[in-house]
Amino acid sequence: MGICKFVSVILIFTLFCLPISIYSLSSTELSEIPTNFLNYAQKPELAKWMVDVRRKIHENPELGFEEFETSKLIREELDEMGIVYKHPIAVTGVIGYVGSGEPPFVALRADMDALPLQEMVEWDYKSKIPGKMHACGHDAHVAMLLGAARILQNHRQELKGTVALFFQPAEEGAGGSKKMIEAGALQNIDAIFALHVTARIRAGSVSTRPGPILAGCGMFEAVISGKGGHAAIPQHTIDPILAASNVVLSLQQLVSREADPLDSQVVTVAKFHGGGAFNVIPDSVTIGGTFRALSKESLVNLMHRIEQVIVAQAAVNRCNATVDFFEDDLYSVTYNNEVLHQHFINVAGDMLGAERVQDMKTIMGSEDFSFFSEQIPGYFFFLGMKNESLRKFETAHSPYFTINEGVLSYGAALHASLATRYLLEFEALSHLSKRNVHDEL
Ligand SMILES: [Zn+2]
Ligand SMILES: [Zn+2]
Repeated sequence: MGICKFVSVILIFTLFCLPISIYSLSSTELSEIPTNFLNYAQKPELAKWMVDVRRKIHENPELGFEEFETSKLIREELDEMGIVYKHPIAVTGVIGYVGSGEPPFVALRADMDALPLQEMVEWDYKSKIPGKMHACGHDAHVAMLLGAARILQNHRQELKGTVALFFQPAEEGAGGSKKMIEAGALQNIDAIFALHVTARIRAGSVSTRPGPILAGCGMFEAVISGKGGHAAIPQHTIDPILAASNVVLSLQQLVSREADPLDSQVVTVAKFHGGGAFNVIPDSVTIGGTFRALSKESLVNLMHRIEQVIVAQAAVNRCNATVDFFEDDLYSVTYNNEVLHQHFINVAGDMLGAERVQDMKTIMGSEDFSFFSEQIPGYFFFLGMKNESLRKFETAHSPYFTINEGVLSYGAALHASLATRYLLEFEALSHLSKRNVHDEL
């Protein structure tokens, strides 16, 4: 046996018989990390612990920037693991740090907030708070990131840098990620990853794509004012209901007649309030809705045209209109860095097999992860939950939404593997991905 062969046998022995040593690994050895982490995450004690954590959070759902108990539970678990953290970041946010404490830094993000929705699922761990529910899976996201924290902490000596664990408040519309960025959360962070559960694909599968994965999004609300009066004497009134109805129809022509058919966009009027009696024409009508696009240019253009159409179309019917765009709540396009996409394909492929890493189409939904990924290289993917032999899993934001708790181990292991491999392959990845930072929005 030559000296080289002897050394490699010793190295392989170290890899498989001791806690995984990940310095100076060959590509075969790197490819073993995801499966080793998955085996670790699927051990009954870790899997059960994640389920328990998730159920505790599920029972006590908290809305954006009110996640005080969730944040406390996270900090208690991090304390228990001996992981240092920063708190508070953006009111209830927590950032834990695992590894050398030195650069490079890679972040993993989980959102913590629930929705203002009454849970309709009858089970032992049903929401105890009337009108609030974890119906988007953020309770599972927190449990999976805590699971990843356990895996990483168990291998902390071998991390070639530092993993930052982002527990983020207020994803559902209040822009918690923006507040974390304002608080300096991204300082020194080289790349960031996040996942979202989905009932659309099979458990044990993931879906994703490079480039735009979720749309940029804005909201609008317009007050269309006329002159109220008796419904039987319309000539003495200026009818805002007719004006608002024409506005709704005109808005539909923005996408169908003005947008490039190959550049996906959405304008939806989802709110129409006016009048309260059969025989009274009201003074004003309020309408509101959302608009979506896959580039900053298209999003800004839609915003300008929505205002012009509302004001001008209202004027046709002698009404005045004011439009509010809640510009602080404008969401950017969620853009997946191309180099991190290749990294994800490699890591997830090693863990799940290439056939379980699926391409997906861009979705016109939005995520405030976009604010992270427009600042630094970022990557977002979906983790499947579908399993017909268990039950039908409803889509997010349904009052009947449930989690396939069997997939928590996959999420934890993917998080831990993506970060660990990123740090190991940092030289090559950071060099390429920085050149590939998206400057959208
Ligand atoms: Zn949601
Ligand atoms: Zn969500």
